[in-house]
Amino acid sequence: MARYTEAVCRLCRREGMKLYLKGDRCYSDKCGVTRRPQAPGQHGTGRRKLSEYGLQLREKQKARRIYGVLEKQFANYFVKAEKMKGITGENLLQLLERRLDNVVYRLGFAQSRPQARQLVRHGHITVNGRKVNIPSFLVDLDDIVAVKAKSASEVEHFKLLKEGTGRTVAPWLEVNYEALEAKVVSLPSREDIDVEIQEHLIVEYYSH
Ligand code: SF4
Repeated sequence: MARYTEAVCRLCRREGMKLYLKGDRCYSDKCGVTRRPQAPGQHGTGRRKLSEYGLQLREKQKARRIYGVLEKQFANYFVKAEKMKGITGENLLQLLERRLDNVVYRLGFAQSRPQARQLVRHGHITVNGRKVNIPSFLVDLDDIVAVKAKSASEVEHFKLLKEGTGRTVAPWLEVNYEALEAKVVSLPSREDIDVEIQEHLIVEYYSH
């Protein structure tokens, strides 16, 4: 698997912002961006002024890294977003948000998207009562996303979640922590998506 798994904090430092890839650590003083805000590598301190293309490329990389999507898959999302009605950049973000791993993260069932991906892969999550272990699965309106009953009663991580997480849940999801299940009550609009991404730059990147 070509997924980038090492030194994830370097990815945040490269983008000059927190991408929240490590759970609790991201909210603490140990966060790599807090401790060493400069870009990684020998020339990290002297940042060059980016060209227009460079800015577009960085924005695309940032979005890819936030959602943990590989290059080819990201390009496929863009093609799909272009074919949808509405604004391509917003469609792209909506598709990324609808990924099952992102939904699990947004519900607070995981501390980070990488952890959410692992929970999905390990078969702990169901959609409409059926186990789905594909992190890229796209949820739809009225879908019910839940923790598998066996996992909910036996796995310590999930047992603790039943008391609530204190996290703010995305407004397009309605969650019942006691039951460890949630409903997709609307598809996410741009205002619902709190990622710091200038999607128009990504659209420009792909129009070259
Ligand atoms: Fe990024 Fe989290 Fe590492 Fe901070 S701790 S640099 S937010 S992955």
